[in-house]
Amino acid sequence: IRDLTAKDTICAIATPLGLGGIGIVRISGKASREILSKIFRPSRAKFPLKSHRLYHGWVYDPGTGERLDEVLVSYMKAPHTYTREDVVEINCHSGYVILEEILRLVLKCGARLADPGEFTYRAFLHGRIDLAQAEAVADIVESKSRRALDIARRQLEGALSSLVSSWLDLLTDIMAHLEAAIDFEEDTEGEIEETLQLAERLKKELIDPIEKTERESRELSILREGVRLALVGKPNVGKSSIMNALLKRERALVTHFPGTTRDIIEDTFVLEGIPITIMDTAGIRRDADYIERLGIERAISRIGEANIILWILDLSVPLSKEDDEIFELLKKSSQSLAVVLNKADLAHAFGPEDVKKRYGIDSALVTISAIRPGDVDMLKGFIKNRFLKEAVEAVSESFVVSKHHREYLNTAVEALLRVYGLMLEGASPEIVLVELYDAKKALETILGKGDVGEGILDRIFSRFCIGK
Ligand code: GDP
Ligand code: ZN
Repeated sequence: IRDLTAKDTICAIATPLGLGGIGIVRISGKASREILSKIFRPSRAKFPLKSHRLYHGWVYDPGTGERLDEVLVSYMKAPHTYTREDVVEINCHSGYVILEEILRLVLKCGARLADPGEFTYRAFLHGRIDLAQAEAVADIVESKSRRALDIARRQLEGALSSLVSSWLDLLTDIMAHLEAAIDFEEDTEGEIEETLQLAERLKKELIDPIEKTERESRELSILREGVRLALVGKPNVGKSSIMNALLKRERALVTHFPGTTRDIIEDTFVLEGIPITIMDTAGIRRDADYIERLGIERAISRIGEANIILWILDLSVPLSKEDDEIFELLKKSSQSLAVVLNKADLAHAFGPEDVKKRYGIDSALVTISAIRPGDVDMLKGFIKNRFLKEAVEAVSESFVVSKHHREYLNTAVEALLRVYGLMLEGASPEIVLVELYDAKKALETILGKGDVGEGILDRIFSRFCIGK
């Protein structure tokens, strides 16, 4: 974040690259309108343009008089805008080259390129949104899945903010009681009674709900971070085919020769709103050549990153020493393991019982054929029931997903638990108040109030892409 006072005018392409034929160049700041008047000629209207209207016209290069593109333009006067500054949006429909061209013009007219997240940062700076909401914007931008998006959106709408605000109100109330108590020197019966009541209130109305929110959001981190699923098995068992089927497209190279996938290939699909990253590991093979061995070593080290391992076996050929060796490797890993018996459409050389007998595993087992479309859904259902059920259920109600929000909630709870202990012990109100301030600070930080270090701001806003 380079300019804390946000005096200059910023601009950026606000639409994702390569998405459809339409694009927006967004400008925010004092010079927005003046810049627009230099490069835009409306087809019917005259300057000055009215606020919050859409105007049709053309963008011209003021230097050469060359007509660049037909556009729709909106000028939005402060403060009823996203940033609470004057904002101009130029909608054009001619693809990325023209977008860049228009952006260059705007820069030439005196704006500078926005930093990542700077539009949202300005909205925060001008008090239009609080920090929790700003983060929600970042989450929306980042969201890989619809469900995570819904949660972020609820947060943006202020669900977390209003909850935290209500906790802060309560905290302030309790602090007022304690401050009043400082004025009384002696411990009267009534006062001890009141402190105990206050302590119970603290527990019931603050500690418990904050803990609950923190707990729920921890379960939800699966949404943000997703699940990593590794496909492991000897060459030719159908790993790439299964991966492609799950991703529903031709991605990993599929061949008839063993060991073609030399390294890790990964890609993401969404299941029940949860982003699942599949890693197709190199075929693990005993007589591997050097390059293949390199891939295998990497594959094995990467298995450690997976949450779930699907061990693929080929039903059409007998179980072999290679399978045994892979099982030896898998035995050492601590992740959830499931066995997929593939190529069920061919004649079976063995069955599920043989796998159980040979390897003594009682882990989940599913039989599929990667080339039968219906079986893919079956495999997805299997993954869902086996590994994602709890996460999916936890999702329905909560809304806090940010990791460092969670840290602040934790800090608040820890401080409040100390407060609770001190109150029960009958500690002096002064001592109790010190701990309460810590809790208050942690909660305020979530809203971006009080003492928010610049480092935190940087961390949050640098997550944005340019144009948000
Ligand atoms: P990988 O080496 O484990 O990644 O295996 P591939 O996905 O490259 O598959 C090896 C070969 O087996 C390819 O010719 C696939 O078309 C074929 N194959 C994969 N799954 C099935 C299946 O379920 N049934 C049949 N009949 N062939 C399959
Ligand atoms: Zn493969």
